[in-house]
Amino acid sequence: MGKNTTYPNISKENSTKTLSNSQVAESQFIILKNYKIQNEIIKYGDNTQPTNQLQNFIFHSKFNATPQEAPNQAPYLFNTLAQLATPCESDELQKTKEQLKKRARTKYVTGALIHELTKLDTPLIKSYRNSYYCASVIEQHGQTLTSTYCNNRWCLTCNRIRTAKLINGYMPSLKAMHRPVFLTLTIPNVKADELRQAIETMSATFRTIVHRFVSRSKTKIDGVRKTECTYNPVTDTYHPHFHCIIDGWIYANIIREEWLKAYPQATKVAQDIRPCKDDKSLLELFKYFTKLMTNKDEFYPANMDMIFQAMRGKRVYQPFGNIHPVKEDIDEVQAEEYKDIANDDKIWQWFENDWIDKETGECLSGYVPDETTEQLCSRIEKQDRPSATTNQPPQDKHPPT
Ligand SMILES: [Zn+2]
Repeated sequence: MGKNTTYPNISKENSTKTLSNSQVAESQFIILKNYKIQNEIIKYGDNTQPTNQLQNFIFHSKFNATPQEAPNQAPYLFNTLAQLATPCESDELQKTKEQLKKRARTKYVTGALIHELTKLDTPLIKSYRNSYYCASVIEQHGQTLTSTYCNNRWCLTCNRIRTAKLINGYMPSLKAMHRPVFLTLTIPNVKADELRQAIETMSATFRTIVHRFVSRSKTKIDGVRKTECTYNPVTDTYHPHFHCIIDGWIYANIIREEWLKAYPQATKVAQDIRPCKDDKSLLELFKYFTKLMTNKDEFYPANMDMIFQAMRGKRVYQPFGNIHPVKEDIDEVQAEEYKDIANDDKIWQWFENDWIDKETGECLSGYVPDETTEQLCSRIEKQDRPSATTNQPPQDKHPPT
């Protein structure tokens, strides 16, 4: 510390000169200050002092920057992808920017979720921590952005990618159905320690019903079954249920009747069948498999953890009949080409709410959390919430491999 550091000069001359750490800090502050002004987050007066957030950034930049590799030119501040907003920009570029902003938002909100989930004493702790690093670095080579993803179910960044993949994979089969219907199957709510076993029994029961019908009638039933689970904080119970899209009302009805025989305590009215009238109703199947927030907009990390533990190693989507399975993992999604971004070689690092080029202070997406997102995050991070259950792992006869 205290040694002088070579760092790109931010003055008008295109030269590199030796700056003291305080000058480095000052230059970074100016870069970020300009960025903030550009995004209209903070309106600076002439005497504005750096906020904590800015000071963090300065610290971060100072000790992680690699000055030797810094380009021998003044950093350009505003020619970023996000800031190329001109009235004549192409629709494609607009779309790319929107896509990156949406990804930044999911990463921002996931940060709040993970912050709470990593406070728990849970077997999933390592996986939760892993999500901090999901897409935290984006490498740009030319017009290709490459990143690595955590592939976890609670990660909203991964879920966006996964949902798109599942929709692409399943929609052609669902659209090709003659008479698609939406079938919901439920059981009475269960306690935390019964949840994993309850889901396994439900899956086995469903499989038996379909297999029995197919072997007796020699007719295939085509469909996709999705497992969902929600938490009820009032009764401190879990509500595992299936949503299915099945080709043919008659088959859906047979499954419903058999389900009621297997679960006589389930209410008939809850086992709902309705026609899928359009693509929108088919897309209902691809909603997130659990509600992260309760109806009162509260987040219960310990109970969400229970659901994630119960679903660990299990498929959420299970096709049957002539429908081919689509892999729920997104491991293979890594490099994405964006035809409209400027050719460049860069490393973008996540900081607070965007990916930043530490050498120049540029931001990749230009995402700034809006008020709704900030409110959502503060509800997630609310500290005075009673934890309804202790965090014991549920019973598991067949631990996932
Ligand atoms: Zn992820």
